[in-house]
Amino acid sequence: KEEEKAAGQVVVAGAPLVTATEVKANVSMPEVAERAAATGADGVGLLRAEHMILGIGAHPVKFIKEGKEEELIERLVEGIRTVATAFYPRRVWYRTLDAPTNEFRELPGGEDEPEERNPMLGWRGIRRGLDQPELLKAEFKAIKRLVDEGYDNLGVMLPLVSHVEQLREAKRLAREVGLEPHKDVEFGVMVETPSSALIIEDLCKEGLDFISFGTNDLTQYTLAIDRDNERVFKLYDETHPAVLKLIKHVIKVCKKYGVETSICGQAASDPKMAKILVRLGIDSLSANPDAVQLIKQVVAREEQRIMLENARRQLYKDEELEF
Ligand code: PEP
Ligand code: MG
Repeated sequence: KEEEKAAGQVVVAGAPLVTATEVKANVSMPEVAERAAATGADGVGLLRAEHMILGIGAHPVKFIKEGKEEELIERLVEGIRTVATAFYPRRVWYRTLDAPTNEFRELPGGEDEPEERNPMLGWRGIRRGLDQPELLKAEFKAIKRLVDEGYDNLGVMLPLVSHVEQLREAKRLAREVGLEPHKDVEFGVMVETPSSALIIEDLCKEGLDFISFGTNDLTQYTLAIDRDNERVFKLYDETHPAVLKLIKHVIKVCKKYGVETSICGQAASDPKMAKILVRLGIDSLSANPDAVQLIKQVVAREEQRIMLENARRQLYKDEELEF
């Protein structure tokens, strides 16, 4: 079994390639966890809840109100356990549900969902989670059960955070169901709005173990470009200086507070962006499972280059040479 797993890894001189910057995998479905773990990924930087929760084939909030909370929790426990086991002891960050109202509406029982003109700017992520805490609490209860089973490799990540109060309130709800942030699980937020990047110091002071850049949204909101609109898509660019400036600022502040930095947006699977992020000092990148091996090699080469450049600069430090 171990050999099967090793088969998918990048192997150098008989040993799996090790990088200082971790390269993790994004996982959407527990069914692919084994395969994702076999790539040699250093963990899961984004375990999506959408497939597990919306996959019940019913409106999850109505489902809970109909007295079926236990069924939902069991489904989550099973899904998260599958991923946490496949990767153990590597860490797995579970992101709480982030589905826009138009996706809720497509579910059986979703006919009462509000019609929003702009669902991506609407009732989604942590905003909705806090307004309908029964669902967020069910997610926390599922994580708590796994902690009680002995899983010490789990983290919770909140989507679309833009206000410090949202972090505070989410932690309060977690404690209400017996899940202790920072102790039972690592607790972090996604940085995917310019506001969260600009108030990162306050978020760090509120208490964070990690942040993860959601560059799909961060780019869309920073550049005011709808990520799903083909007409403007040519202007969508994660390497735009404004996006990079926000990322650099966040990494710098997080380093000051000892908060781990990661990225789980699509940009983590892009070699060009991966190189930039390694240079900016990010702690880990979470890529699509099929991109993990390529990104691992890109990261390893970039880390070597940085070390070599710095060593040469040190050697010729009094001369103005470019490397
Ligand atoms: C992101 O915004 O980069 C992200 C990973 O979240 P999603 O794609 O689910 O919005
Ligand atoms: Mg997002």
